[in-house]
Amino acid sequence: SRKIRIGIAGYGNLGRGVEYAIAECSDMDLIGVFTRRNPSDVKVVNEDIPVYAFDELKDFQNKIDVLILCGGSKNDLPIQGPALSSMFNTVDSYDTHAKIPSYFEAVDASAKPNGKTAIISVGWDPGLFSINRLFGETVLPNGETYTFWGKGLSQGHSDAVRRIDGVKGAVQYTIPVPDAVDRVRSGSQPELTTREKHTRDCYVVLEEGADSKAVEHAIVTMPDYFVDYDTKVSFISEEELKNTHSAMPHGGFVIRSGKTGEGNAQVIEYSLTLESNPEFTSSVLVAYARAAYKMNEKGDVGAKTVFDVAPGLLSPKTAAELRKELL
Ligand code: NDP
Repeated sequence: SRKIRIGIAGYGNLGRGVEYAIAECSDMDLIGVFTRRNPSDVKVVNEDIPVYAFDELKDFQNKIDVLILCGGSKNDLPIQGPALSSMFNTVDSYDTHAKIPSYFEAVDASAKPNGKTAIISVGWDPGLFSINRLFGETVLPNGETYTFWGKGLSQGHSDAVRRIDGVKGAVQYTIPVPDAVDRVRSGSQPELTTREKHTRDCYVVLEEGADSKAVEHAIVTMPDYFVDYDTKVSFISEEELKNTHSAMPHGGFVIRSGKTGEGNAQVIEYSLTLESNPEFTSSVLVAYARAAYKMNEKGDVGAKTVFDVAPGLLSPKTAAELRKELL
């Protein structure tokens, strides 16, 4: 059978990660990268891959099987998801958890009448973590689910620190509290407050003449972002920020702790340790692009989430191969 033809819509961290991930898949071809910027300003990793303007997408409806949407969740996907899923099968990483239900409805209204399959909110959280939360609470209905994030760089919290007056640059790491993780792993099902689960570490470069005490105060008291956490602020040089804090590590654990039968403790743990959050997320997107293609071939159209995708569809192997090799 022929290869699955993939397009990339938006070329930031995820777009680049998707380009790398497709290069590892012998059943896929990357047809092109599409950008809102001037295509000649966008440098892709493999120079043989063509870069097109977004407007040209409409000419690719018969040339692309699945379009992987790599725009940002805040401003790009709410527009691009519904717009592009009327023309293409799509996969995206929409991660604004509270708005996923309404995003799903908007994409479904666009994909379904046009016979397209659109898998939304793919990645690790939402994504692989969501599946593991579902496994946990279904297998162990009498229990508690715990999600810990980190150690990892949080883009949203880093941006919030950068917006403070007097801050020239900053990164923020979210760190699970080891004692809380140990208590959860023990099966004791502790009740944990926000402050008990994670701490936040900020590395900040000040503008010249900025008041470090005022900046620190603005950070640790910031509502929603920091006030409910124990936050550590360290001031560093611009050089140190560049040299030691430009990677994008992340990860975390989903733990389900439950009791069965005569009160036996059962603990399930799923854990990720990621040197590059975007490259990993992109690898998940590419696996789900394969599933989107197969589901559409079978006429399973409309918006979908990871809960609606049978695991075997993610694999390039046939069902018979999977039964023999992995069952
Ligand atoms: P980026 O900010 O790197 O890219 C987002 C968009 O911005 C791109 O599609 C691109 O669009 C544009 N862009 C990128 N670089 C530039 C530039 N130099 N100048 C101007 N525009 C640029 O975001 P990420 O790729 O890191 O992340 C995308 C989303 O993925 C995040 O918003 C996050 O919500 C989600 N995510 C989800 C995860 C999950 O587990 N579900 C995990 C990690 C991230 P264009 O080419 O059209 O200009």
